[in-house]
Amino acid sequence: MKKDIRAYTYEQLQEEMASLGEKKFRAKQIYEWLHVKLAEDFEEMTNLSKSLREKLEKEYTILPVKMLERQESALDGTNKFLFRLYDGNVVESVLMRYKHGNSVCISSQVGCRMGCRFCASTIGGLVRNLSPSEMLGQIYQIQRIIGERISNVVIMGTGEPLDNFENFLRFIRLLTDEHGLNISQRNVTVSTCGIVPKMLELAKEKLQITLALSLHGATQEKRKELMPVANKYSLDEVLDACDAYFEETGRRITFEYSLVHGVNDRDEDAKELTAILKQRNCHLNLIPVNPIKERTFEQPSRKNALNFKNKLEKSGINVTIRREMGADIDGACGQLRRRYVQTNNE
Ligand code: SAH
Repeated sequence: MKKDIRAYTYEQLQEEMASLGEKKFRAKQIYEWLHVKLAEDFEEMTNLSKSLREKLEKEYTILPVKMLERQESALDGTNKFLFRLYDGNVVESVLMRYKHGNSVCISSQVGCRMGCRFCASTIGGLVRNLSPSEMLGQIYQIQRIIGERISNVVIMGTGEPLDNFENFLRFIRLLTDEHGLNISQRNVTVSTCGIVPKMLELAKEKLQITLALSLHGATQEKRKELMPVANKYSLDEVLDACDAYFEETGRRITFEYSLVHGVNDRDEDAKELTAILKQRNCHLNLIPVNPIKERTFEQPSRKNALNFKNKLEKSGINVTIRREMGADIDGACGQLRRRYVQTNNE
């Protein structure tokens, strides 16, 4: 098996080149080809000698992330991409264009084993983890395709990033490395369903990335109804881990709350949610649930969602309703991939 060269940190690549008997500055050149010029092939690295390129080709691989499909929303310019990996698995990523820059949402695993009830990504279970190189590849491909800089990254696509912790951390290091794409840590958000020990480990890394916690229920009982992971880690433990993250990093937590009609959008839910968020320096993001055909969850009406938001706002909570992007193009996370996998297996 060839080694995955795009997953080496700058320092590791220097050691690799030294072990091949190459000069140190070769590592700088190769790193730049991989992470700044976004090369997909050693052939592109024209300032390296042919013999070095051949040597690299023999020992290493640049894991492919190849575009299969691109959907563009006529409503808001959001793009969804379906990418094929070296083993035929597919993942999806989303490009959102904002006034402040281009933001990409990437997948961290093929499938997911967390089992959240309303989520399309988890229906077929976990297939495998993505390597750091495959996470980067999604962003690099999109930047190459659109020819514009990506300035913000959210790890909120398919998969649970903290269930693929080592690869996820390496990915963050590479993404924010000054020798590479050099994306500011403050422009990166990672979303988790609440894997407590990994949240605590992440806090200890003292990164400046934003941690988003998928809350979805304001009581332990309600969370258990929607998210199997709540059987493993209680709401109290999860909230303590959020507090630890804030203490270690000074970064305000974002809480995500998918609003499901009749399930977690009632008056008492708003009250319970207020009780746990009031004392915290945080931001609340309400996401009207995106219905998927395999499940029967319904979105609250616009009026109810606004009502819910107003109640929280009145209690002094910093809250927004997430703008629905790309509603006309396989909306919810995981749906594009699911459609692809189904059509190709039938
Ligand atoms: N595993 C991570 C990140 C992936 S999902 C996590 O759980 O946070 C990103 C967010 O979208 C999560 O808050 C997730 O619960 C939410 N989500 C997934 N499917 C959804 C749907 N159909 N409608 C609304 N939100 C959804």
